Amino acid sequence: MEKGARLYEGKAKILYATSDPDLVIQYFKDDATAFNAAKKGTVQEKGIMNNKISSRIFEFLEKEGIPTHFEKMLSDREMLVKKVVIVPLEVIVRNRAAGSLCRNYGLQEGTTLSCPVLEFCYKRDDLNDPLINDYHVLALNLATEQEIADLKKYTLKINELMTKFFKNLNLELIDFKLEFGRYKGKIILADEISPDTCRLWEVGTGKKLDKDRFRHDLGNIEEAYQEVLRRVTK
Ligand code: ADP
Ligand code: UDP
Repeated sequence: MEKGARLYEGKAKILYATSDPDLVIQYFKDDATAFNAAKKGTVQEKGIMNNKISSRIFEFLEKEGIPTHFEKMLSDREMLVKKVVIVPLEVIVRNRAAGSLCRNYGLQEGTTLSCPVLEFCYKRDDLNDPLINDYHVLALNLATEQEIADLKKYTLKINELMTKFFKNLNLELIDFKLEFGRYKGKIILADEISPDTCRLWEVGTGKKLDKDRFRHDLGNIEEAYQEVLRRVTK
C-alpha cells in the first residue's frame, strides 16, 4: 500500500492517506509527551514497539468480536487502518486507582475499585482534556445516545477481554484509554492500545511497565516497553 499525503501529525503518530479513500496509514513515532505535552522526550524504538503491541491487541480484540479500524501491520512503524471520523472523546476505564483518579479523589495509588470506573474526557488539548459526563456529551453534540451506549458496551467488553489477556501474561491492567471513530455509520475502535495508553503492572512485583516510567522519570523505559512486547508476542 503506497503512502500518500500526510494528513495529520500528532504527538505520537502521523497519519498518511493511501490510494484507497477508506484506508489510512498510522506511522508510529518515538516522540513521547506527558501532562498534556508539558513534558516532552523521545523513547528509543517506542514507535516500533507500540505499533507491534497495538497490532497484536487489535488482532486479538477483532477475533473476540470487537469492531476495530485495524487492517494489518505494513512495516515496523506502519499500520494500515480504516479511516474514521474520531469521536472527540477519550474513553478511560480504571480497575485500580492511579494517576488523575488518585489526584482528583484522594485515593492511594493501587487502591482496588469495587467496580470498573468508566470516564469520558473531552478530547481538547487546549482545554486539558476535561472530564465530562453523558449529559455534556449529548449537550455538546459530541455523540448520540446510541453512540454513547455503543462506546460503553464496547469499552466494558474490551476491559474484560484485555484484563484476561494481560493476566495470562502476568500483567495487571490498571487502567487504559480508548478512542473510537465513525466508519460507514458504525462505531469502531480506533487509535492505539500500547504502554502509552495503558497502565500495566507486573503481577507479584507491582513493577510499572508503561508510560508512568516516562512521566515520573523511573528509568528503563525502553526495557519496560520491550518487556511488554516480548510478552504480548510470545
Ligand atoms: P494526538 O492527536 O493526541 O497528538 P496522535 O499523535 O496519536 O495523537 O495522533 C493520531 C491521531 O489520529 C489522533 O488524533 C487520533 O484520534 C487519530 N486517529 C486514530 N486512528 C484513526 C483512524 N483510524 N482514522 C482517523 N484518525 C485516526
Ligand atoms: N491516557 C492516555 N492519554 C491521555 C490521558 C490518559 O492514554 O491523554 C491513559 C493513561 O495512560 C492511563 C489512563 O488513560 O492509562 C488514565 O490516565 P489518567 O487520567 O490517570 O491521566 P494521567 O494522570 O496519567 O495524565
